[in-house]
Amino acid sequence: MSATPKVGTSHNGKDMHYSVGAMIKRGDTYLLIERNTPPFGFAGPAGHIDEGELSEDAVRREVQEETGFQLTNVTLLTADEELDWNWCRRGIEVHSWYLYEGSIEGDVDETNVREVKSIGWYTKEQIKTLTLEPVWKYWFKKYNII
Ligand SMILES: [Zn+2]
Repeated sequence: MSATPKVGTSHNGKDMHYSVGAMIKRGDTYLLIERNTPPFGFAGPAGHIDEGELSEDAVRREVQEETGFQLTNVTLLTADEELDWNWCRRGIEVHSWYLYEGSIEGDVDETNVREVKSIGWYTKEQIKTLTLEPVWKYWFKKYNII
């Protein structure tokens, strides 16, 4: 849990972290967690890529840590997209994202969940009414989901 995020340099010369996120769909719903650390809001499972870690390994790890499930059918949607407004509580202002699509099997069991306030499946109509973490609002708009 004390792993060190990989650090790079953004196009505008700032320190940059690397992030992974998972867009997990089942039927017409998406799996969202409510984050218990800043930035707050509803979000897909996500987190930093650690030093020496491959992005796909990182997304599988984060999904496991935040939902208790193994991510399957993993497909890369976005690679190395720098977002210069996406800050984290470690004080880094730029994150380069690797966004994946995937699925999980079985029902969500809240007792499995660590590191999050709540977890559930939400329709597009419900997602439009939630307070999303800004980066997830960006992804859902980019992929025309909301
Ligand atoms: Zn960061």
